Amino acid sequence: MPIRVAVPKEVAPGERRVALVPEVVGRLAGKGYQVQVEQGAGAAADYPDAAYAAAGAQVVADPYAEAQVVLKVQPPTLEELERIPPGAVVVGFMHPHRYPDRVARMRERRVNAFAIELIPRITRAQPMDALSSQATVAGYKAALVAANLTRRFFPMLTTAAGTIRPAQVLVLGAGVAGLQAIATARRLGAVVEAYDVRRAAGEQVRSLGAKFLELPLDAEAEGGYARELTEEEKAREREMLAEAVARADAVITTAQVPGRPAPLLVTEAMVARMKPGAVIVDLAAESGGNCALTRPGEVLEHGGVTIYGPLNLPSELAVHASEMYAKNLYHFLELLTQGGERLEPDWGDEILAKSALVWAGEIRHGPTRERVEGSAG
Ligand code: NAD
Repeated sequence: MPIRVAVPKEVAPGERRVALVPEVVGRLAGKGYQVQVEQGAGAAADYPDAAYAAAGAQVVADPYAEAQVVLKVQPPTLEELERIPPGAVVVGFMHPHRYPDRVARMRERRVNAFAIELIPRITRAQPMDALSSQATVAGYKAALVAANLTRRFFPMLTTAAGTIRPAQVLVLGAGVAGLQAIATARRLGAVVEAYDVRRAAGEQVRSLGAKFLELPLDAEAEGGYARELTEEEKAREREMLAEAVARADAVITTAQVPGRPAPLLVTEAMVARMKPGAVIVDLAAESGGNCALTRPGEVLEHGGVTIYGPLNLPSELAVHASEMYAKNLYHFLELLTQGGERLEPDWGDEILAKSALVWAGEIRHGPTRERVEGSAG
């Protein structure tokens, strides 16, 4: 029996992405999966129903009815959960810390769930790493948004009307999103400086033609992630960053420490020292912001400085964000179903074991279980 995969239309406000694109449907159909796509599921990402049908999907009004695996971008809502048949598996971003009620409902209804963001960032999991693929999109778009919000050129221009100096861009946090923001700002001709608490990021920053701001501390912890800085280290960091922020025409912030609120890097006092017309694009807006003045989802002016905390930049580039996400899901689905053979996860596999949120009425992710059941659980 072929494994039945469902792709519903995303219902979250402003979400344009879709979990599978026609090309990936074609690959799955070729491997014997049966794919049902809800009518209009790809429309907001410019993938018409006809393209899904041509790739081998059935385009249907209700993709849930017979689904064994439901592929989502955003966490399923309570209404969506009611439509997923018990025993089916839903895969997508789950943000369990934000939606413990939905996790509790999955457990009650015996809907199984894998959280794509819990996939460990190990080498073998790279093709499934949707956090990275979507952060790549966000970093690229952040540089374009910053360029758009400034009232200046990014590149140096030599014209009959004189020479224009290039914009000075500062990128804070040189992980996946930060590196892509650096690369994009460089392609637009800006002079770029970047900072990260991990010294190892310096080499990558320099290879993109940007200057790496060195601070006399190293905060790389287990797994290549940053540890949280001490209070004293934070103060030193802010002092040195204040100078760099004051010189910048555009600041793009992307710093995060997994499982923690975003580190505060740009204080109100630093913003007060910025040039008139300078811009801050804060990618960490959702987890509290790297700038003290950021308001999630809003563009605001503060003393002549524009501060924007976008919440879903990948959705604005829905064509390629969906394509990359669909490829991530394809590789995950192949692992989950052992190449389309059966829906029995191999719990010996670290990727499946760590990304399983709910299975057979049990919350498998420890921190979420504690949150839903209380610390005794
Ligand atoms: P990542 O883990 O790859 O990179 C984060 C970087 O921040 C790491 O290199 C880390 O060392 C660095 N960092 C941590 N503390 C720091 C500090 N005090 N100073 C300087 N650097 C510090 O993460 P990512 O995938 O690049 O995502 C970056 C951010 O972008 C996250 O907050 C993520 O949620 C956000 N994001 C936002 C959107 C959006 O549309 N708004 C989309 C995707 C990702």
